[in-house]
Amino acid sequence: MNKKDNNTFGDKEFFLDALSKFCDKCGTEYRPEDINIVQNTGVSAIIHFSCHNCKSQNLATYIFPIGMSSRSPLNVDLSFEELKKFASQNKVSLDEILEVYTQLKKKSKISV
Ligand SMILES: [Zn+2]
Repeated sequence: MNKKDNNTFGDKEFFLDALSKFCDKCGTEYRPEDINIVQNTGVSAIIHFSCHNCKSQNLATYIFPIGMSSRSPLNVDLSFEELKKFASQNKVSLDEILEVYTQLKKKSKISV
């Protein structure tokens, strides 16, 4: 078991299938190298999408037990490494993820 690197090709394929195959903005098909798994606790995962065509970024959460996912455009100027640092500060509980999901849902109507 290697817990340090969740960015295996198989996981990325899974998230591409489960979350998004195409860029919201330009419709370009995501490549496995366009996504980064910020955090994967086995219960929830945070995935960073970066379109290789239009450079738009999305942050997605996926909750394994219920197979629910949420995506929102990422407008902050955070690099993947910074996100990773932020996400690893504490383990996110399912309750917190649900809270985030609710917040994301509320904010999903904000246009870029
Ligand atoms: Zn795009």
